[in-house]
Amino acid sequence: MRVAAVYYDGRSAKAHPVTLCLEDDKLLLQGKEVVRREVLTGLEIQPPLASTPWVVLFADGARCEVADSRGFAELFPGTDSRVAALENSWRWSGFALLLVLVIAGAGYVWGLPYAAQRLAERIPVELAQSLDRQVLADLDRHLLQPSRLSPERQGQINAKLGNLVLADEAGRPAGLEFRASAELGANAFTLPGGNVVVLDALIELADDDEQIVAVLLHEMGHVAGRHALRQLLQASAVGLALAWYVGDFSQVLAAAPALLLEARYSREFERDADQFAADALKANAIPPGRLADMLQKLEAARQGNYNRKFADGLDYLSSHPSSEERINRLRSQ
Ligand SMILES: [Zn+2]
Repeated sequence: MRVAAVYYDGRSAKAHPVTLCLEDDKLLLQGKEVVRREVLTGLEIQPPLASTPWVVLFADGARCEVADSRGFAELFPGTDSRVAALENSWRWSGFALLLVLVIAGAGYVWGLPYAAQRLAERIPVELAQSLDRQVLADLDRHLLQPSRLSPERQGQINAKLGNLVLADEAGRPAGLEFRASAELGANAFTLPGGNVVVLDALIELADDDEQIVAVLLHEMGHVAGRHALRQLLQASAVGLALAWYVGDFSQVLAAAPALLLEARYSREFERDADQFAADALKANAIPPGRLADMLQKLEAARQGNYNRKFADGLDYLSSHPSSEERINRLRSQ
């Protein structure tokens, strides 16, 4: 059998149409202006990539291109044409691309939270504290105002938290920061270093101190799980990777307060924080339903005219799809 091919002698760019066939252990190449007879062992065969042809390389630099891959495979049954078939097939290219996307996606969904958790455990306390001071200073400039609560009232609330019996001491906040905010309304949130910020409107919204304690215990659940730090690490990971690539980290650091306000906790974090609060409330002879009461009040307050720009990010302004589920779970404990 003969297979059509194109021959280049390696000296000029001229393409010679030729045919190839086998003669014992030799390749016979025949064209109008060229005839070669070469021992097979002296030839190098390059399998095709994507849509390129098979290439036969001669020792003297000449080459021969064979576009007919089926004919080539019949001519050289020893050559594995499956490689070419795979590489030529869009189906396999598509599959390979899908596999890469799945691996990248799995890394993002599972690998990133895991990496953030491990990293959060290793970040030194002093570093996390200095991050909190920066974030709080930034928030004080833009969103927060000084609390109108009297020092006595602030001391009372601090004392209530201090007197709580906790199964997990890791939940003790590094500090409780009292602030007011026209834009954020009734809210409390945890900073990456474990400081908890509580806003006047939330204190005023509560019917009694048990409800305040319940909400703060939920925040302490976030402190115990280092949720804010993990969230920040996760949210900034893509930005950090980009910054490393571009070589400019200032944007990532500048974005930290915004990330904190806009990134929403996962359901898992909320569930963990609720459970921490429920366990601690029971340990201190307060019904876990007190947190549910407060969640409902905060839901209702959310209908108010707070700045919607931040409505999604903060703990109690979030339009959490599972808030009813959370309330039911707390009531059933
Ligand atoms: Zn929360």
